Amino acid sequence: MDHVTDVAKRFAGGAQYIDGRPRTGGSGDTHSVVDPATGRTVWTYATAGPADVDAAVAAAKAALPGWAATAPGERSAALHRLSAALDARADELARAETLQCGKPIKLSTEFDVPGTVDNAAFFAGAARHLEGKAAGEYSPDHTSYVRREPVGVIGSIAPWNYPLQMAGWKILPAVAAGNTIVLKPSELTPLTALMFAEAATEAAIPDGVLNIVTGTGQGPGEHLVTHPDVAMTSFTGSTAVGTRIARLTAGTVKRLHLELGGKAPFVVFDDADLDAAVHGAVAAALINSGQDCTAATRAYVQRPLYDAFVSAVADLMATVRLGDPADPATDLGPLISFAHRDRVAAVVERARTYATVVTGGAAPGDGLAAGAYYRPTLLTGAPQHSEALQQEIFGPVLAVLPFDSDDQGLAYANDTPYGLAASAWTRDVYRAGRAAREITAGCVWINDHIPIVSEMPHGGTKSSGFGKDMSTYSFEEYTQVKHVMFDNTAVARKDWHRTVFGDR
Ligand code: NAD
Repeated sequence: MDHVTDVAKRFAGGAQYIDGRPRTGGSGDTHSVVDPATGRTVWTYATAGPADVDAAVAAAKAALPGWAATAPGERSAALHRLSAALDARADELARAETLQCGKPIKLSTEFDVPGTVDNAAFFAGAARHLEGKAAGEYSPDHTSYVRREPVGVIGSIAPWNYPLQMAGWKILPAVAAGNTIVLKPSELTPLTALMFAEAATEAAIPDGVLNIVTGTGQGPGEHLVTHPDVAMTSFTGSTAVGTRIARLTAGTVKRLHLELGGKAPFVVFDDADLDAAVHGAVAAALINSGQDCTAATRAYVQRPLYDAFVSAVADLMATVRLGDPADPATDLGPLISFAHRDRVAAVVERARTYATVVTGGAAPGDGLAAGAYYRPTLLTGAPQHSEALQQEIFGPVLAVLPFDSDDQGLAYANDTPYGLAASAWTRDVYRAGRAAREITAGCVWINDHIPIVSEMPHGGTKSSGFGKDMSTYSFEEYTQVKHVMFDNTAVARKDWHRTVFGDR
């Protein structure tokens, strides 16, 4: 997998996975997977055209009645087999993820792959755990019960930052709930989604239940989300594209699930464990080169700890080892592409006019110049309403601002368009409780920042979107509730008919 020719050979069947088998895309266009650590093209593939998307949706539609009618226990067994099949390819998945994203192999190995294996096992359990109101006589003359049914064919779009995990977050709850799905991964990172689909076939998940189409957002992406046979669009990506998809699908009244951008605050109160906050901030700002929607991007530090925090964060950032992502000793790989690295660099260059770059603020030279690397960067002095504190940068850049009162720190935390995740650092249980209540976000960590678990929901509010991934909340997003009401009286002239017929 780590040599150019291996990838073309490995995916010789083509970059589309439709109805249980790979095939070549028919758009007439190609796209390339580029190793961002070296700039080498590792695979050029034919992208999906409209006919491929139509075929994938048709396969999902044909598979739907059979899969939806499968007993929950059978779907659960299939997902347990899928979890095992993913685990059996753990090494190959980790290497492919690192190759296409540039993320350090230790992150792929210790986070991306085991997280996805665990997610599959979790949704195997969730498949058998359909919840609803108790059946009963809510009117004395009737028995009511609730059915929880699949939504239909799901059209999903995923980003490049965690391609395997995002594929899992989209596919697993949908399939566990009895839906069928067509997923389009990012055109930059199709490899592990294709391997996920192969694992599903190996796990004897029926053909057509899970289909992958690959190519650009404007091409197969828009065709998929607007397809009339797609009942629900589930999207993870930027707020700009999410709002476009909301507009494109508005006329069809499809169900929408939008996991969008973030700008997570990291609030350090003056009684916090400084060492814990410093290590937490550097880890949470730099994980996946800062290309994490929940990454710590703006640290608000109460005045008494501010100077010590800034100097310790700068020192720790300087120790982070940039390098070959395939090397287990590497802490920080490149960004996803040169274009993205240049966008991050441009934000930092603009910030120089209103802020101080304490450390970083440049691409490394030496042996790393051929990759899309950017040094860990610490900014101070950026005003709350500046670009650096308001807009998602999606790179290894942390801005720090001091605050005085608790009110001010919490107000800063809430003062962006986003609401995905946040953390508060304090040893005072009342401060922690207040932060948990008052910060508007889908997740608030106390004295940590980043960890996720399959059992708990992930998803935002405000411009970070709506809908949950992971957990039984996400499983419910992929079901619809039907009320069934039985008459118990067997009486032809029912009492309530008086309201229409009078006494006749
Ligand atoms: P992006 O929005 O540019 O692309 C995401 C996906 O949408 C890709 O597959 C792309 O091909 C597709 N796409 C683009 N235009 C489209 C269109 N018009 N119609 C249909 N599909 C289209 O995002 P990205 O750069 O790949 O990923 C980074 C973004 O994802 C960041 O904003 C990050 O915060 C966000 N993200 C959010 C979460 C979350 O859970 N909230 C998780 C991961 C990433």
